[in-house]
Amino acid sequence: MTGRGGILGMIGNTPLIELQRFDTGPCRLFVKLENQNPTGSIKDRIGLSMIEAAEREGRIQPGGTLIEATAGNTGLGLALVAAQKGYRLILVIPDKMAQEKVLHLKALGAECRITRSDVGKGHPDYYQDMAERLSREIPNSFYVNQFANPANPLAHELTTGPEIWAQTDQMLDAVVCGVGSGGTLTGLSRYFARVAPHVEMVLADPQGSVLADVVRTGSIQKQAGSWLVEGIGEDFVPPNCDLSRVRKAYEISDRESFETARELLRREGILAGSSTGTLLAAALRYCREQTAPRRVVTFVCDSGNKYLSKMYNDFWLFDQGLLERPRQGTLVDLIV
Ligand code: PMP
Repeated sequence: MTGRGGILGMIGNTPLIELQRFDTGPCRLFVKLENQNPTGSIKDRIGLSMIEAAEREGRIQPGGTLIEATAGNTGLGLALVAAQKGYRLILVIPDKMAQEKVLHLKALGAECRITRSDVGKGHPDYYQDMAERLSREIPNSFYVNQFANPANPLAHELTTGPEIWAQTDQMLDAVVCGVGSGGTLTGLSRYFARVAPHVEMVLADPQGSVLADVVRTGSIQKQAGSWLVEGIGEDFVPPNCDLSRVRKAYEISDRESFETARELLRREGILAGSSTGTLLAAALRYCREQTAPRRVVTFVCDSGNKYLSKMYNDFWLFDQGLLERPRQGTLVDLIV
């Protein structure tokens, strides 16, 4: 994404580095550092592309209002771009979300409407229904809806894909992706289907999500469970998620995801979020299963700073039943 000044010019064009200290079998494994986007995640790309598409299509006028249902990385990406371009942004956020996230969004100028987490689709207080309703009530407003907005996968088809292809010197065999909205996977699938159809798309899915099962069986066969990894995994197939080119899927537990993310920090010095742990665990399994050398890319989707009190905290892991005994001294040691 070039031709923009200021902070918006810093979105995308992220570095790709090869992991040095993991056992990757006969393969070479590279990670694209999406944590180096301005708000610290891959979602800055779609914050920019969805707002600029809405501008081009005349869906949003100067001084208009953007509405989205999220407290996650998409909210941050949208808040950054909306602030730079002078749009009002209303985010509808379920009340279970971490206070830090809401404070960060407010500091960026987003209006946060907190709603109930304990209701499902179809209930008027459900966060997505509420966002949709607000967009009908508020004049000159636009419901961004990352799950169905075509500018979401398009951002990855037009920027993330070509960057990876250039950075690997057009020598690439597989890409390992997670799915939240499906934008990354779908955009990259479309790009590689055009320029290098031999590139295999591999899904990394949290245990409890239905998507790995959909890859294997072609339909939703099981009830979704719950998982602690943030930003990926679904109980439905979002309209933006095209799994048709995915042949291989790995289901990764919370425990393995968190351990792998922590290992990434210890071995390679990369402080990544929890979904990166899932992606890296799947990528490592894929690499170790190969019998011939292959070049594989996966993502550091977001920065680990916002998970310091969660998966990087032994006491939190212990409370979740994911660690037998905290290793980092006592809680008092941590506090003083
Ligand atoms: N990792 C994290 C941390 C995310 O926030 C997201 C998006 N929710 C993803 C991965 C997956 O990206 P996508 O929405 O493009 O499927």
